[in-house]
Amino acid sequence: MHHQRFLSLFRTILSTPTAPFHEYHVAAAIEEYLEPLPHVSLEKDKYGNLIARYRKGRKKPHLAFAAHMDHPGWVKHEGEEEFLGGVPKERLDQHEVEWFGPFGMWKLTPFEVEEGMIRSRVCDDLIGCAAIIALFMELEDAEVDADVYGLFTRAEEVGFNGAVAMAKNWPLPKGVRFVSLETSAPRGGAEIGEGPAIRVGDRSSVFDDAITAELVDAATEEKIPHQRCLLDGGSCEATAMNLYGIPAAGISVLLGNYHNVPPKRGIAEEYVSLKDAKNLVKLIFATTCRMADAKVEPSKRAMKKRLEKRMKDHAKYHKAAEEFWAEKS
Ligand SMILES: [Zn+2]
Repeated sequence: MHHQRFLSLFRTILSTPTAPFHEYHVAAAIEEYLEPLPHVSLEKDKYGNLIARYRKGRKKPHLAFAAHMDHPGWVKHEGEEEFLGGVPKERLDQHEVEWFGPFGMWKLTPFEVEEGMIRSRVCDDLIGCAAIIALFMELEDAEVDADVYGLFTRAEEVGFNGAVAMAKNWPLPKGVRFVSLETSAPRGGAEIGEGPAIRVGDRSSVFDDAITAELVDAATEEKIPHQRCLLDGGSCEATAMNLYGIPAAGISVLLGNYHNVPPKRGIAEEYVSLKDAKNLVKLIFATTCRMADAKVEPSKRAMKKRLEKRMKDHAKYHKAAEEFWAEKS
């Protein structure tokens, strides 16, 4: 995607105000981007999660990329101002709040790019939302024959509310696997700027082996910088899906000032590497294309074949040893 178009999309989405349960502005911005795309359909489930689908040609759907539309923030409830989301209590009175009607956010820079970093009031998880929109735009541009979902969930920050509502009433065809797109604090050797992290798990669960391998295959084949690691600093929506038996994996863009909490004190913008964000879009685009291509062999299937060939190659030794022992005894 052209640099200016990428920046304009990310600026628009990341600058949109949001808080748990108050994702309507983000949902409207997503709808505005997706509506003109001829092969993308969009619906809303009962809980208010958005289910988008790009469908061109007669391919089977394999993947649903998911991101959450909320971010820790203030909400007015029954006359009280409450903070929803994981931020240490002692930080809550250390910064000015900007109100958008019934919800408030820290008064911070909505979006800027500085020295290769996106600094924003909200990276978690509007980066994920913008990446899914970018994926759909790129699939349209390249006229790819594929069938892939984009899920935009609500109220992740208070315990995956939207994802749980969706998992309990899973609306997608069997065989479609959930891939959580997140931003996360660096852990397990992962570093900001070294590529999106293909997570083998989070703090609570390990992820689907086959789909994780597909993500690594696509990154390796297309030479997209990436890191494969266990990010166990927090839990993501893939864990919620795991609980309900829906195969799930996860990719994270590593971020600084997680939940607007800088190391020592106060409240500040979150930041991610611009390159990592671009490589996330490349990675999900490449994975979608590879999995839609029937000629591509997943590395797991190739490995199975290799191991079965070794078994066949060694059958003569197996047979000889069996015969030796049968004669002896
Ligand atoms: Zn979060």
